[in-house]
Amino acid sequence: MLSVTSVVKPAILYSALFRNPKTDMAKRKAKSASRTPPGKPIRKAWKFCPRCGVTATKTGRNPFSCTACGFTHYFAPVSAVGAIATDPEGQVLLLVRAKDPGKGMYGLPGGFVDAGETAEEALRREVLEEVQLSVTSYRYLVSYPNEYNFNGFVLPVTDMFFVIEVESFDSISLMDGEIDAWHFCHPTRRELNRMAFESNRKALEFFLASVER
Ligand SMILES: [Zn+2]
Repeated sequence: MLSVTSVVKPAILYSALFRNPKTDMAKRKAKSASRTPPGKPIRKAWKFCPRCGVTATKTGRNPFSCTACGFTHYFAPVSAVGAIATDPEGQVLLLVRAKDPGKGMYGLPGGFVDAGETAEEALRREVLEEVQLSVTSYRYLVSYPNEYNFNGFVLPVTDMFFVIEVESFDSISLMDGEIDAWHFCHPTRRELNRMAFESNRKALEFFLASVER
């Protein structure tokens, strides 16, 4: 199993970045830089009851509740996984997204958990699909809520992050159309401000703080 203490510590760099008086400004910048695309919350998309077909009298509520037949549906978050992989120098693998949301910005390897799949299986599958790397071990790190825009409707997501080890980085190869480039680095505020998702940025910050200790 991977122990974060075994990772090379970017401690000095991290301290310089996160303990300066400009932190608030950096936080505001990070917020404006993250791209949550415009869209309607999925709960507002439901105009009819899926059981009896009656036009909904109240839309946008969670749960959806049909006044005609009593059918109730909760708009619960879907599950997703993200991987933090470090090379022998402790540099983190970041991917440049080829598609919206967050086209051209950084992301972590990962994706949605399929129905009937465990989060761990999704982690292995997504890392293999996206960057052709075989996960040999993993350690659960942290989770953060996220939102994802599917064709104009925004779904709530629970992102679960794992620190992973891979067989070798030699086999790294990018999924066509999904990822434009990969980048190993000790993430600085520059990279953190360019993360496509706030949840990914927070997970990276959490990870960096854990290796600093
Ligand atoms: Zn109904």
